[in-house]
Amino acid sequence: MKSVVELLSDLIRIPSNSAVSNRPVVEVATRVLHGAGWSVRELPYKDAAGVEKVNLIAAPPGQDAANRDVDLVFMCHTDTVPYAAEWTAALDPLLKDGNLHGCGACDVKGFLACLLAAILQSDSTKLPGGLRLVLTAEEEIGCIGASRLVADNALRPRRMIIGEPTSLRPARAGKGYCLAEVTVWGKEAHSAHPQQGVSAIYHAARLITAIEELAGPLATETHSFFEPAFTTVNIGTIEGGTAKNVVPGLCRFQLEWRPIPGQSPNVVFLATERIIERLRRSNPAFRAEIKLLRQQPGFETSADAPLVRTAEALTGRSAISIPFGSEASIFSPFAEEVIVFGPGDMRTAHSSRECVRVAELDQALNCLTALMKAG
Ligand SMILES: [Zn+2]
Repeated sequence: MKSVVELLSDLIRIPSNSAVSNRPVVEVATRVLHGAGWSVRELPYKDAAGVEKVNLIAAPPGQDAANRDVDLVFMCHTDTVPYAAEWTAALDPLLKDGNLHGCGACDVKGFLACLLAAILQSDSTKLPGGLRLVLTAEEEIGCIGASRLVADNALRPRRMIIGEPTSLRPARAGKGYCLAEVTVWGKEAHSAHPQQGVSAIYHAARLITAIEELAGPLATETHSFFEPAFTTVNIGTIEGGTAKNVVPGLCRFQLEWRPIPGQSPNVVFLATERIIERLRRSNPAFRAEIKLLRQQPGFETSADAPLVRTAEALTGRSAISIPFGSEASIFSPFAEEVIVFGPGDMRTAHSSRECVRVAELDQALNCLTALMKAG
């Protein structure tokens, strides 16, 4: 029987950034699952570039993986972010000072290795009904695989444990993630005759200043479980203009916001639309459009939910909130209890420092084994 470190090392060796097919990772998991008598249901699809991606739903012996309404899902994404070219050992697992290093070690192949090891160590015929292991594709580029499971109505779990590195603390709440692209149009002219043109950059500047001022009203709606306790806004990129002596005809920027749970995820989108309308009314030459690219609400499971209490008791750690987005946002609108949990620290993820403590893998394995058994 393979140890959790051996399973994780096998998984790290598989290139799995979101652009390539996740089938090799799914196949490693399928071999383990079949060995334990589990049945698997593959839901393949082609991604935007035509590459095959696979979501997988697995059920213990005697249970039907095609059932949509299930009780408890352990969910894990199968993709990683791309790694830097300088990190030559990214796919070469290295055990050093009690840590296992490699791309995906904590985000989130560590959790997957623990799930597979827990299944290997359990008597799968004795697992409770309505239990599922679900593997998803393309989480790192916008929870695409998980969103497909919902859109296809393939899965309606009552409770979920979603793998992400939380240093073994059960996370019962998280902010959402929303992204929009804003385009501002002007009219090009020779910069010696600015009155003949309309500067898209000046107009974008007015719009951006008004968006910055949304921070005031947003800060009045707070959620004390988060730091910062309110919805935050960021304009992360901007581009515009073609040359120093041309009045710019186009300016474009990305607007991102992270809504607190309980707040509508489109609050910043609607406010920006209103600002655009106000600027247009005061100047008919003002022309702008906001296009929504992502809209994921925050999630929150109540502090006294049985799944939260059980996870707290098993880990000996109290529940936290997480500042990063996860698949919890996709399922929380209908799942009753959702927690995010896993070994490793997200602060090492998405970097060449990525690693996971072997001691945390062992603890996660024990917790997951107990959670599976308890159902
Ligand atoms: Zn992740």
